[in-house]
Amino acid sequence: MNFEPTETQRQITQVIRDFGKIHIQPYVLEWDENQTFPAPLFKQLGELGLMGVLVPEQYGGSGLGYLEYVTVISEIAKICGAIGLSVAAHNSLCTGHILQFGSEEQKQRYLPKLASAEWIGAWGLTEPNTGSDAMNMKCVAHKDGDEWVINGTKCWITHGKSGDVAVVIARTGNVRDSHGMSAFVVERGTPGFSGGKKENKLGMRASETAEMIFDNCRIPAANMLGNEGEGFIQSMKVLDGGRISIAALSLGIAKGAYEAALKYAQERHQFDKPIASFQGISFKLADMATEIMAAELLTMQAADTKTRGGVVTQQAAMAKYYASEVAVKTANEAVQIFGGYGYTKDFPVEKFYRDSKLCTIGEGTSEIQKLVIAREALK
Ligand SMILES: Cc1cc2nc3c(=O)[nH]c(=O)nc-3n(C[C@H](O)[C@H](O)[C@H](O)COP(=O)(O)OP(=O)(O)OC[C@H]3O[C@@H](n4cnc5c(N)ncnc54)[C@H](O)[C@@H]3O)c2cc1C
Repeated sequence: MNFEPTETQRQITQVIRDFGKIHIQPYVLEWDENQTFPAPLFKQLGELGLMGVLVPEQYGGSGLGYLEYVTVISEIAKICGAIGLSVAAHNSLCTGHILQFGSEEQKQRYLPKLASAEWIGAWGLTEPNTGSDAMNMKCVAHKDGDEWVINGTKCWITHGKSGDVAVVIARTGNVRDSHGMSAFVVERGTPGFSGGKKENKLGMRASETAEMIFDNCRIPAANMLGNEGEGFIQSMKVLDGGRISIAALSLGIAKGAYEAALKYAQERHQFDKPIASFQGISFKLADMATEIMAAELLTMQAADTKTRGGVVTQQAAMAKYYASEVAVKTANEAVQIFGGYGYTKDFPVEKFYRDSKLCTIGEGTSEIQKLVIAREALK
């Protein structure tokens, strides 16, 4: 398999680096400190075609494949993990769900607005008492004539307050029945739908994470995605793609931390030598480089399978599990290489360290990835 970047991937990389230098890098610390969700930035990213990467051109998207998508997310995450997370959640969760399971009418209504980032997307599966155990969800939808009425709370939702449109999974049948949940599109402004508490997080602070509250929220029956009872199964398929996103996010964070540490290790002198000349430091760099390469190959393999239309459940879980653990380990070692300076906000590695931890949690924890990998292996 040849994963040499294509001309399109090279162009994407250059566009993101040029754009990021002017519109992201200078503000990263300020957004992080103040937990600012920079909504206007996403409109600019939309103009660059980065908010509808996988959406076909007929719906206003860029019509690219998963290999290019991995390039987009990892290049943004090298500059700022939080912006990478928001772009990933918008593209692969909300937009991805409508793209995979929406009717032609739903695709025409939502995809052009999402691809241009005129509308920001949110995707709500998680609830206060059900994260890994999503089949136990309490948020319910019941049919009333030509409408569905949704009641309950979703939490930890990326763009839970600022999202203009949300895909929401709610119970329409029995608890723990995989066919007992359905997916709906809910637009901001619908009476009974509001944003709740915004989380004050360790990292990824410029990516808004908040509750979504549904209080007798009535939506037309036509807002269901696919058929009644398909919501959970659809969500698992959406997460297969989403896990490639988080693998790419992890890869970008790991590469950003590694590149900063590599440079610093050659510049910083102790005992009259660059610290890179000490084997204790150069071996850390060797481990980081090797593990990043392995994470990249797993991620590209999953992206390639997905682009070809293959079943990606195990490969995506492997890529997400390995790449996210590598991101945390690499960022940790990068702080170590920077010594005391790495512990300050004057250098980028403390932020990579804080941001990296989300990658082993969001869209299924490392433990859940291992359950998925083992279940597939034992089939
Ligand atoms: C920044 C951020 C953004 C997010 N964005 C979204 C979003 O946009 N939409 C959305 O729906 N959700 C979102 N989430 C939620 C995220 O997907 C969940 O946090 C995650 O799935 C874990 O669920 P939990 O937090 O409830 O942990 P829990 O499920 O309570 O898990 C706690 C611990 O128990 C372990 N555990 C649980 N079950 C098992 C098991 N069977 N075997 C072994 N170990 C187990 C877990 O691995 C973990 O270590 C986001 C979370 C964060 C932090």
